Amino acid sequence: RPILYWLRRDLRLSDHPGLSAAAETGRPVIPVFLADEIVEGYGACPKWRLGLAVESFAGRLEGIGTRLILRRGPALATLRALVEETGAGAVWWSRVYEPDGTERDRKVKAALEDDSLDVQSFPGHVLFEPWTVATGTGGYYKVFTPFWRKVRDRGVAPPLGAVGTLAAPQDWPRSDRLEDWDLGAAMDRGAAVVAPHLTVGEEAAQGRLGAFAAHRIEDYPAARDRPGVDGTSGLSENLTYGEISIRACWHTGMRAQEEGKAGAPTFLKELVWRDFAYHLAFHTPRLLRSNWREEWEAFPWNEDEHRSDVIAWKRGRTGIPFVDAAMRELYATGRMHNRGRMVVASYLTKHLMCHWRIGQRWFEDCLADWDPANNALGWQWSAGSGPDASPFFRVFNPVTQLDRFDPDHTYPTMWIAEGQEDPPDTALSYFEAIPRNWSISPDDAYPEPIIAPKDGRARALAAYENRDF
Ligand code: FAD
Repeated sequence: RPILYWLRRDLRLSDHPGLSAAAETGRPVIPVFLADEIVEGYGACPKWRLGLAVESFAGRLEGIGTRLILRRGPALATLRALVEETGAGAVWWSRVYEPDGTERDRKVKAALEDDSLDVQSFPGHVLFEPWTVATGTGGYYKVFTPFWRKVRDRGVAPPLGAVGTLAAPQDWPRSDRLEDWDLGAAMDRGAAVVAPHLTVGEEAAQGRLGAFAAHRIEDYPAARDRPGVDGTSGLSENLTYGEISIRACWHTGMRAQEEGKAGAPTFLKELVWRDFAYHLAFHTPRLLRSNWREEWEAFPWNEDEHRSDVIAWKRGRTGIPFVDAAMRELYATGRMHNRGRMVVASYLTKHLMCHWRIGQRWFEDCLADWDPANNALGWQWSAGSGPDASPFFRVFNPVTQLDRFDPDHTYPTMWIAEGQEDPPDTALSYFEAIPRNWSISPDDAYPEPIIAPKDGRARALAAYENRDF
């Protein structure tokens, strides 16, 4: 009887433990992707980018002589219908670790086991599964450095080779057409502008990793902090959909370390930040939804998304060049440099005293590399409400941050057209991406700061001093 292999954040043939195990059984395997209750809830850009990942992976499967079956509907009911249609005796998948995913999977597993099916799940999305890393007293880690020390020498098994063949079932079940799902429906705004900035699919991701190891890993520790420089791997977009395995990234980093490449240890450490985010999301699901440090519930955050300063922040019109450049990069490319993410998050939560959830939601709508755990950890770290967070009173100064990490102001020149006689294509592309009703044009005057950085800082620190916790 066939195995239904349910794909989620693992859209690759290489180093795919569950799919390899299915292939090894020699039984027919029916690869399935579902637009289920979780996928339906994705923000505009991640949903569109997911569609591109699914399309690319379907091509990979065709390349080895098999297919990807697409179905839309709640996970359990849709899988049950497929079992019924195909006579499958097993439903297998790779595990996810974010709270809504684990909750869905638990329910699906219990129900399908009640139907007497063989239900199995496999690792592959993180280096160290959250329950395998415990403190001396058996708890979970709340601080990164001890987590890192605990895992760094543990050893990671080498990546598996690519799945080469999957036995086909006698009859294929019907598949939806991806076009009919219209996963890009909410992205008409800028899909054409954003698309050239993406690196979609397994082969492209492998190329990106190879190029990073060959040319950029050496200078990574310094270059990774410079928003005007292409100094990072750019792999987050691929890791989030599983177009490349985290193990492949780890082993590439280890090889670079053995070759004496100076930036390799920093790169390995950053990869483990991603695991740390999943560790925390798994052990404390509130990381994704509410202040991790509960006392922050009492802080006077603004929660009104329609306030004019929030709108100025989203549209890159705060009058603070670092913030505006980063917000425009986000809208026009689906990406934002990590230094930019830290600066815009600090500015929103501290200078503007807005709840980090407003920023979390905006990123969730706009990022091509949106990752539920990394995004939540990044926002709570920046706001000061998270575990191992930057303390609230550490307010990034967006002016000195720019002078320090982008002394030539390359980054605002790339992204802010107003005031430039001959703005570069990047800066102009932002205006092609935004909706008409934002009513801004490259010929407008660049705005004065909506709040002077020193006043915003003073206001935030006063609120922090007066907080009642
Ligand atoms: P590289 O520097 O090449 O790093 C390699 C990989 O290590 C990344 O792809 C990523 O998987 C991991 N990594 C690096 N830095 C971090 C970090 N600080 N935290 C966790 N993992 C890290 N990352 C996402 O993948 N998705 C998000 O939705 C996301 N939202 C963020 C929101 C905020 C407010 C902040 C401050 C950070 C966020 N990050 C997020 C983390 C980080 O900014 C990105 O992972 C990084 O910029 C991706 O670029 P890269 O792949 O070139 O990274």
